[in-house]
Amino acid sequence: MNIHEHQAKALLRSFGAPVAEGFPAYTVDEAVGAAKKLPGPLYVVKSQIHAGGRGKGKFKELPADAEGGVRLAFSIDEVEKHAGEMLGNTLVTAQTGDDGKQVNRLYIEDGADISRELYLSMLIDRSTSKVAFVVSTEGGMDIEQVAEETPDKILTLPIDPDAGVTKDDAGKLADALKLDGEARGDMLKLAPVLYKAFTEKDMSLLEINPLIVMENGALRVLDAKVSFDGNALFRHPDIAELRDKSEEDEKEIEASKHDLAYVALDGNIGCMVNGAGLAMATMDIIKLYGAEPANFLDVGGGANKEKVTAAFKIITADPNVEGILVNIFGGIMKCDVIAEGVIAAVKDVGLKVPLVVRLEGTNVEKGKKIIDESGLNVISANDLDDAAQKIVKAVQEAS
Ligand code: ADP
Ligand code: MG
Repeated sequence: MNIHEHQAKALLRSFGAPVAEGFPAYTVDEAVGAAKKLPGPLYVVKSQIHAGGRGKGKFKELPADAEGGVRLAFSIDEVEKHAGEMLGNTLVTAQTGDDGKQVNRLYIEDGADISRELYLSMLIDRSTSKVAFVVSTEGGMDIEQVAEETPDKILTLPIDPDAGVTKDDAGKLADALKLDGEARGDMLKLAPVLYKAFTEKDMSLLEINPLIVMENGALRVLDAKVSFDGNALFRHPDIAELRDKSEEDEKEIEASKHDLAYVALDGNIGCMVNGAGLAMATMDIIKLYGAEPANFLDVGGGANKEKVTAAFKIITADPNVEGILVNIFGGIMKCDVIAEGVIAAVKDVGLKVPLVVRLEGTNVEKGKKIIDESGLNVISANDLDDAAQKIVKAVQEAS
């Protein structure tokens, strides 16, 4: 689960990280009110969307030469003007895709005098099974580009979970960031603070780009992106509350209610499969026969009629879906139960596109019989190859 920058900063501040003063705002009036509470004379108006690259982003509704989604303001009047231009408009950044994201909230923050912009992130390093820091002196820009062109400018430092962040670790990070004086002292304090926040809150990613050295020599967290491990959210009701559903795909929200593993994709063939491996294989074979899957959907091992119906509703709610492929291996689950679920779902939801069903495993003959005798326009298939070819052909013929 992702959260907004202002929420991430409030969380990091509560652990003791150096974060500027700032307030979220949902209206222009609130933005003005927020700015009045800040010392000035420099304010920053920041679009809050779950995507980076906001500074260089463009608003769809504004002229191409208009400023981006993160803007400096030198007076309260300017804060008002920027807030008016940003709220309700659609920000397109390198990370949002062409559709962009509507800006519904802003963060009004005290402006900083920047001397240097650094990069710092933390993630779970699968190769060492440890939480690792990744730091670079090349902050504020695209870290992927730095990794490609000048990988020697990036330090990855895994942390021993028993020892935590040692003085030696913090020193290595400060060295890699070429910090001295007050900023160095700040880094030695910041590294253990971030590690504590990361581990206590079950984060999966923490990215501060940029972490800055200010003209006065102190360190400050200027941007913050935090993702949490969804499987650990039950331990953190305070974090779960920060979820902003307007940032998520509606179909994925509905799927999570029914405990279905669903990911929306761009293709035209909806898939309903049990088991993640089989779902991946189904997507692959659809592509092999020249079409694209509209989703990944794993109904799980214990799918019942209700779950199958919910899954069907989610698939058919996608306007891009021109055909559906149901591919079920009845292991623990019986094929006849699935067949009944599919028939009930079709009767309940209606069927406007071709549907191919492939069943295999326990009670397969009974399952096929139920499908064949249902009187519904369902195409049954014998194996995965057959099923994929049949659905691709049916969709081509229908269009
Ligand atoms: P994004 O990464 O989405 O573009 P950032 O928060 O990193 O958004 O902001 C982009 C740039 O705007 C930063 O690299 C920094 O130069 C500037 N900036 C952001 N916040 C402030 C601030 N509080 N004071 C001064 N400059 C800022
Ligand atoms: Mg940034």
